Amino acid sequence: MKTKAAVMYEVGAPLVIEELELEGPKENEVLVKYVASGICHSDYSFRNGVLPASVPSVLGHEGAGIVEEVGPGVTHLKPGDHIIASLTPACGTCLFCMEGKPFLCKDMTDVIWKGSLLDGTKRFTNSKGEKVGQLVCVGTFSERSVIPAGMAVKVDPKAPLETICLIGCGVTTGVGAALNTVDIKKGDSCAVIGCGGVGLSIIQGARIAGAGIIIAIDPVEEKRQLALDMGATHAIDPTGIKVVKEVRAIAKGGVHFAFEALGLESTILQAWSMPRATGTAVIVGVPSMDTVLELPVLGFFSEKHLKGSAYGSSIPSRDVPKFVDYYMKGELKLDEMITKRIKLEDINTAFDEMGRGEGARSVIMYD
Ligand SMILES: [Zn+2]
Ligand SMILES: [Zn+2]
Repeated sequence: MKTKAAVMYEVGAPLVIEELELEGPKENEVLVKYVASGICHSDYSFRNGVLPASVPSVLGHEGAGIVEEVGPGVTHLKPGDHIIASLTPACGTCLFCMEGKPFLCKDMTDVIWKGSLLDGTKRFTNSKGEKVGQLVCVGTFSERSVIPAGMAVKVDPKAPLETICLIGCGVTTGVGAALNTVDIKKGDSCAVIGCGGVGLSIIQGARIAGAGIIIAIDPVEEKRQLALDMGATHAIDPTGIKVVKEVRAIAKGGVHFAFEALGLESTILQAWSMPRATGTAVIVGVPSMDTVLELPVLGFFSEKHLKGSAYGSSIPSRDVPKFVDYYMKGELKLDEMITKRIKLEDINTAFDEMGRGEGARSVIMYD
């Protein structure tokens, strides 16, 4: 079948909108018609070469849609089911899945940089007959995609796919970092560096966990206001001030948890300096993979912790429907995070805006 998609052919160049041929699902795969896809900062990082992606490849990894066809062996889904594309196949049999950590599923780590599906092959072909890959097995910048069945998480059909698509990446990464990666106790203090889709989700997770102080840090006023609307108790513009000192003053000696959601060396170092003795810096943002940190060792002797967070330490079959439920009950604000709804053709403009730090989330709507 034919599908319209946004394809990356060259690092740093605009994505090409074109029609691709898509093969149907094979064993343990499903064909999904996407209704919407968020544009995550990592898509921008792949496009710019900060993160490695094979080319040509259909980018996009924050999608929700409807199952149109299931391949052999798929028993938990049927055509018509509403799904969110998660970022792990959660195979259930690898070492990490057996330890209850499907966010590190080996099936995914084996293929994540290859642009293929789990069996190592690709399903898209362009008009020149060239095979085209798809980002992290889901390739949501396409009207349709064939994805591993284990990555399609069935959700409440009453929930609006055009909004809950954000749960595919940013929301699960952020809310999960606050609720799963660390144990925030009622009244604890948190700082969150960066108030894009992931940062705003961390703030909401911290609010749901009962944090007493939530300090949002972002140079863009619109994002600071959003952060306050979503549960931050304080919002700081870090431009030209000693932001660590400010955070430590508000939280009286430092926060219990400092979350970094930008993936920048300078802000990771700030996050390390914000917690009090015994506190934790949680690195959620994804820097370029060759980044090397120079950390002052002092914090180790006040028993501070430095922790990474992958996909919000989530178990998608448990957490994705739970986050949809939080949204339906009004505990998780997602509509407010969406600053723009666009057509697939406008993807390159959305990347330009992202480069300027504008808006929290743009969402591509498919017809
Ligand atoms: Zn993402
Ligand atoms: Zn696994």
